Amino acid sequence: MTTADALERTLARSGYRLTTPRRALLEVMLGLGDHFAADDVVEAAPGVGRATVFRTLRLLQDLDVVCQVVLDDGRAAYRFGAADHHHHLVCSDCGAVSDFASGDVEELMAGIAQRTGYQIEAHRLEVYGRCGACQAKDAHERAPLAGATA
Ligand SMILES: [Zn+2]
Ligand SMILES: [Zn+2]
Ligand SMILES: [Zn+2]
Repeated sequence: MTTADALERTLARSGYRLTTPRRALLEVMLGLGDHFAADDVVEAAPGVGRATVFRTLRLLQDLDVVCQVVLDDGRAAYRFGAADHHHHLVCSDCGAVSDFASGDVEELMAGIAQRTGYQIEAHRLEVYGRCGACQAKDAHERAPLAGATA
């Protein structure tokens, strides 16, 4: 689990000292669930200016502490995720976001670079669907007797 202390150590390794307002912002972000919008942070930290929120998010992104995820309605959100390159699974039902990595996707990118002559600097992949928990919930609702003893 990501904690403010762990993040503080990560930032320190990159030469960043956490000022008190930045630490307070981090703690607000950590309390916002598995993903959050910049506006959620602004709303949850009334004492902190909008510009500071955006600057801090930018810094955390540059340090790979937070990543951006595009939700199924096209809105951008942020989340504390894996520091290594990864992609996202977004549940269109409950909105949960999780990370995944795939060697096949990276190979595909190498192939595209070769075919197009493009020097690929970045790519993003979000996969939208329904998570296991939402599918299980549906199955349960369709067959209420089967779940009666649970
Ligand atoms: Zn991510
Ligand atoms: Zn779900
Ligand atoms: Zn990738």
